[in-house]
Amino acid sequence: MVATERDERRGLAGRATTRLVESIDVLLGDRLVVDKGVKPDYFTDGAPVDAFSILERCPRRLAHPAEDYVDSVMTARRRIGLMAMRHLVGSGRAGELSVADAVGQVMSDPEYWPKNLRQWVEGLDRAGSAAVASAVITWCHGALRLVGRDARIKWADPVMSPRWNVPGRVVQLRGSVDATIGTVGSGEKLLLLGDGVPGAGDRLRAGYAALLRSVMSAHAPVRVTIGSPATGRRQAFDVGSELLDLATDRVVEVVSHRATPEAAPPVPGRWCVHCHLLDVCEEGMEQVGRGVEHLGGDTVGNVAGA
Ligand code: SF4
Repeated sequence: MVATERDERRGLAGRATTRLVESIDVLLGDRLVVDKGVKPDYFTDGAPVDAFSILERCPRRLAHPAEDYVDSVMTARRRIGLMAMRHLVGSGRAGELSVADAVGQVMSDPEYWPKNLRQWVEGLDRAGSAAVASAVITWCHGALRLVGRDARIKWADPVMSPRWNVPGRVVQLRGSVDATIGTVGSGEKLLLLGDGVPGAGDRLRAGYAALLRSVMSAHAPVRVTIGSPATGRRQAFDVGSELLDLATDRVVEVVSHRATPEAAPPVPGRWCVHCHLLDVCEEGMEQVGRGVEHLGGDTVGNVAGA
């Protein structure tokens, strides 16, 4: 019998899941095992993996993430923007409701927003709220310029954060996509939007989104597109075993650093100036002191093949 496309996507997801679970078992042995009857705290006691950690260049910073996360206009605009896009489409008035109206309506009704985002926005003064609204409108226009008002596009719900727990381990994969087209059955195409210009890390970013979708739905997506509203460029990555393997290997690397933080080496670079560990990192201080600029070093430093 000839395998259908759906069989192939199932096969890809099954193979990726097995490879990931087995690799993490080999890496961790008897560490980070879920105790029977105890609800695991993946963030505090385990090894959480997210899209930021996948792209992190410095293992030391990866192993000791900052704990004082606060929202900013930059982080808030995507989440509010997604709500506005859903409102635009969900209202059934996508052709007549303006983006500014959709953003205004969403921002005037934050009751069901994630608590931290709601509190942050409610703490802004009038000028701050206007700045956020303006940034969100720009984000939405950029997204629409890139993909249009296609009724088939399902914009992601920023309240729901996709996550998958590695069976039996205190290891959790988290991530999100901005939009999807298609269904698990017919084959999904994922869209990720970014702030920067397309770069070498995009392949890894796409691979991680594909991997997370595969392990969660037991079907590999067909394609992942990285879009850059700032430049209007899009790059599509077909999902195959090579892309999933690339992401799996990187996930295992991230888990290894998180599980053994004392062994995570520093990889200094131009990113040191923004690092929360700079004051206590000799290599980072040296790097900043030298004033070396890695212009053009756009690769994801320690990730071979990214
Ligand atoms: S200062 Fe630089 S080298 Fe040190 S942990 Fe931070 S990013 Fe890594």
